[in-house]
Amino acid sequence: MSTSPRSLAVKRDWGHDETGCTVLHIDMDAFYASCEIARHPELKGKPVIIGTGNRAVVSAASYEARTYGINSAMAVATARRRCPQGIFLPVDMQYYRAISRQIFALMASVTDQIEQVSVDEAYMNVSQALRRWESPSAIGAWIRQQVQKKFNVTCSVGIAANKLIAKLASTNAKPDGMLLVPLSQHATFIRMLPLRSIPGIGPASAEHFRRWGVETVEELSHLSESQIAQITGSALQAHSLWLAAQGRDERKVIPHTPEKSIGSERTFAQDTTDSTEVTALLRHCSDEVAASLRKRGLVARTITTKVRHSDLSYSTKAHTLEAPVDTASAIYPVAKKLLFAIMKTESTASVLPQPLRLAGVSASGLSPAKTTALQPSLELDLGDEDEEEVSAHTDATKLRTAEKTLDSIRDKYGKNVIHLGTTAKAKKPL
Ligand SMILES: [Mg+2]
Repeated sequence: MSTSPRSLAVKRDWGHDETGCTVLHIDMDAFYASCEIARHPELKGKPVIIGTGNRAVVSAASYEARTYGINSAMAVATARRRCPQGIFLPVDMQYYRAISRQIFALMASVTDQIEQVSVDEAYMNVSQALRRWESPSAIGAWIRQQVQKKFNVTCSVGIAANKLIAKLASTNAKPDGMLLVPLSQHATFIRMLPLRSIPGIGPASAEHFRRWGVETVEELSHLSESQIAQITGSALQAHSLWLAAQGRDERKVIPHTPEKSIGSERTFAQDTTDSTEVTALLRHCSDEVAASLRKRGLVARTITTKVRHSDLSYSTKAHTLEAPVDTASAIYPVAKKLLFAIMKTESTASVLPQPLRLAGVSASGLSPAKTTALQPSLELDLGDEDEEEVSAHTDATKLRTAEKTLDSIRDKYGKNVIHLGTTAKAKKPL
């Protein structure tokens, strides 16, 4: 559920020239809550909040619940205080995913050019579909009508010439609306919005810009690219922001269905307490996970270490990184740290307190490497970029290049031919 700012003023008729407007952004309205209302029609019109348990956060809220000031990511306890009469339901991901799959199948009947962003959100490039369809808005209207009819869920659609404007259009069309922004209106449209509307500008960046006297996209549009670079400290971000202020966005719709996680695990030949043996295996698994991420053009934010004990029970521990990764040199140290955290022992221990039967690493919070470039967090990069960080960044780039070279060697000579900097070779796993 989107918490990005909307502006009533832009929710208007922008004209009907659809020339070049081949990008659709489709976003289900309050999806989890809508799914629950679809199977419990008696909840219609009531404040429905998805998320239970006092330590949990709200995953979704119906529009009725939002009028009480309830938002996603808010503590459930706070939501209960704001709306004691609210109907709080547990998250049923399996059910939402089943509906989502059917909705995506419906979209796939229009075109295969679909970039799935999440369970309830996607971009479509409809340029090829226009041979069969009259117009992008006819496609948008049909999807909206079908989703409503078949699943009793509403969605909003933004239509524009690029992803940025299409996304902002659907956000501002919500709930249950469709907004077409003709190419000639892109700049005017985005300049009516607060700076926070631009994906990647969070509260901290917005505050940073405010100190420079920039609060709206209109004000941003008066700056040159180099002036923006002075504020952000990054030429790359300055470029995409400078483009954004003109309603431009060069990112393409990349057909993609998000995978939930990529993992690698092995059972030891014999249960072991030898930490060198276990960490060597984690290194090997990190290597496999990283190679698999790169092969699929993905980056991951969350790393999980999993172990199985002698009594066949499992333990896992996860860590979410500030910036997404796709290299073993970034994944392995995290996986290793998590192992010792699971085992509740010092990272220098050569003998683990309990024997392990299996160990493995997985990466989740996946996104396409190509499209992650624009999003990343201005939030992170606005920090003081000291020399240490810059050199760490350079090292990371070097390691990434080294691992990519390994990928091509492995492609040529086989998977097990070479490993990067493994201190001890993993015992041949079963
Ligand atoms: Mg949504």
